[in-house]
Amino acid sequence: MDVAGLTGFLLGKVGVHAERCVRRFSPRATCRRCLEACPVDAVKLTGEGVKIGECNRCGLCTAVCPTEALQDPERTPAFFLARGREILQTYGQVGFVCFPRGKEARMGSHLIGVTCLGGIPVEVVVALATEGKVVFSRQGQECTSCPLARGGEIWEELLALARQMIACLGLPEDRITFLNEAPPAAPAEYRREGEGRAAMGRREFFAALVRGLGLKGASQVSDRPGMPASRRAILQEVWSTRASAEKKELWPQPGLKLAGPCYLCNICSRLCPQEALVLKGDELLFQPSLCTACGLCIDVCLHGSLAWGEKVSLKEVSSAERKRLATAVTLQCSRCGQEFRASPQTDLCLRCRFSAAQEGLKAN
Ligand code: SF4
Ligand code: SF4
Repeated sequence: MDVAGLTGFLLGKVGVHAERCVRRFSPRATCRRCLEACPVDAVKLTGEGVKIGECNRCGLCTAVCPTEALQDPERTPAFFLARGREILQTYGQVGFVCFPRGKEARMGSHLIGVTCLGGIPVEVVVALATEGKVVFSRQGQECTSCPLARGGEIWEELLALARQMIACLGLPEDRITFLNEAPPAAPAEYRREGEGRAAMGRREFFAALVRGLGLKGASQVSDRPGMPASRRAILQEVWSTRASAEKKELWPQPGLKLAGPCYLCNICSRLCPQEALVLKGDELLFQPSLCTACGLCIDVCLHGSLAWGEKVSLKEVSSAERKRLATAVTLQCSRCGQEFRASPQTDLCLRCRFSAAQEGLKAN
């Protein structure tokens, strides 16, 4: 547990890594996902990033944050993955059940209790589904009658996304199922073996946590100090173990495309938290396997030249290759006649482009 996690643990809140929030990177960042997800209005967004007030640790903000700026001190992605794998090894299936906090002890040891199903990271669900069956249960409750109602929408999005991901990986759709009733019983053939299995003790918890943190590939994800690797590392591990899957399938994550002229000003590539965008010589390169779709690059481009593109193929998203987004060529400005370098979607140099924009503003 790091300092942010320990602070969150002591205060009974999710831990805040304010330095990872995209709003700290640029005042143009528009991300509000945590604020919109929080059912108790605990999230405050300021010019300095994110702050958490009175929090019930439902985990919804942690599940939607693209940069892992928010993280439950105990229920990290690594914890869910390690615990889920242990259960899969014993029972062949793992169940996630929504339970009010503190009542988890009543459940069978083949289940993981969560305050809200929407707080489970999609990467964990997909990784577990590659190894066995994942069952969700709402215990017959309707999300609309739950105080965390917003979590129901987030969970439905999670479920749909996880199903698209496992379909892309060539896995059968029954790897992820949902029961709108009581928690699933342990599979009969395993029940005797699983009976009386002690709930996870403190030592076991830390051992699982350490194992979970030892995910291979974690260090490849981001070399930038302070940037997280865990959720993306889980996907990278999934992609590497499904190397034989049909790679032409589309991974349900948008790519980036050039939607206007690129002057290779380096703002997007300098700010990208994952270094998924890189400026190399006269080219702007994009590596889909690193992108967490935080949207910061789209927000900060002064010319509105980046936009979400088509979904990328499994082959593209699982490879370390960078694809070319823009290449600068020498052009002549149609206004001032000066030569300049940019991608060929413009006939105005940067200075004339800004002047034209200002004139347009004045005219309006
Ligand atoms: S979801 Fe994450 S990156 Fe977005 S505003 Fe909240 S803390 Fe910042
Ligand atoms: S490429 Fe853009 S959307 Fe992807 S991680 Fe970097 S800044 Fe975020």
